[in-house]
Amino acid sequence: TTIELQDLVQLGKIGSGNSGTVLKTLHVPDSRIIAKKSIPVENKPLVKSQLMRELSIMRSVKPHDNIVGFFGAFYTASTSNEIVILMEYMDCGSLDKIMSTYKAFVARGIQSSTENWFSEPVLSKISFAVLNGLLYLYRGYKIIHRDIKPSNVLINSKGCVKICDFGVSKKLINSIADTFVGTSTYMSPERIQGSVYSTKGDVWSLGLMIIELVTGEFPLGGHSDTPEGILDLLQRIVNEPPPRLPPQLPNGLQYSREMFDFVNRCCVKEERERSSLQELLCHDFIEKGRSQGDREFRHWCKRIKKWLKEDKMLRREEQERAKLVK
Ligand code: ADP
Ligand code: MG
Repeated sequence: TTIELQDLVQLGKIGSGNSGTVLKTLHVPDSRIIAKKSIPVENKPLVKSQLMRELSIMRSVKPHDNIVGFFGAFYTASTSNEIVILMEYMDCGSLDKIMSTYKAFVARGIQSSTENWFSEPVLSKISFAVLNGLLYLYRGYKIIHRDIKPSNVLINSKGCVKICDFGVSKKLINSIADTFVGTSTYMSPERIQGSVYSTKGDVWSLGLMIIELVTGEFPLGGHSDTPEGILDLLQRIVNEPPPRLPPQLPNGLQYSREMFDFVNRCCVKEERERSSLQELLCHDFIEKGRSQGDREFRHWCKRIKKWLKEDKMLRREEQERAKLVK
């Protein structure tokens, strides 16, 4: 299906990140909901031509179970100074959104913190999806993702896990100067040091992401958004021992030897010694998750959808109440 911009009606904002804003949008001709991302770009001929080349690579990627569907990209007179990317809408949102919703429920006292929201089978399914998506991009198109983090792993209520936001190199995007501002960096040591890097850089990021999902905290500690603070974090990644899963979670929960080993193989500082995508896809942690039924996972996804709705309602109520107090 080809989608024209004039056939879209905006429904509301989904979120915004370093590079742009994502809107929930209705494609009127077939009543389908899609996500529309706008990214500001520099208006220079060289930037434009390279961008068009990169977008054509994105266009060439054929659909896959673990890659968010791509419906088109626009960079025209009418969208001056921004590119518009149309993609599949994932109704359970991204992993960071799911994490913050869970935290909000615990803070409200509705959810007990002794239930692990990201259980081991769930983490195994997520890890499989990320690895499988990355392998597909690399095998088929020599694309290295470079930006694996919780907000780029999306889930829908059908029980699919997909990765998004690859391909368009960050150096072309206007807001590159603020790339690190306000976010943790999931970059691997070799990438920070400017060495040639491979898909193993994404393996490092996956390891950090799992630790974050389990503990609820970015594993390399916080940093201030000043240039000094960011530099300090980058130096810590390069100089300090790699992050590890804690032996036990604060809520007393434990995880299996397989999961511990899996994360340890991702979080290896030396690129050569880190496991590859293929190796990790054969790991016991992934195999165990695959042999377990998908029904439980689909059920988890449905629950998330319900929670997101409830969270939205509660937020609205809280806002109303705050207004009344004023
Ligand atoms: P970032 O990934 O840095 O947070 P983005 O601009 O890529 O910034 O995305 C902003 C937010 O929009 C994400 O955190 C995610 O929650 C949400 N989002 C992005 N793409 C989609 C999509 N296709 N479906 C549903 N939600 C999305
Ligand atoms: Mg993103």
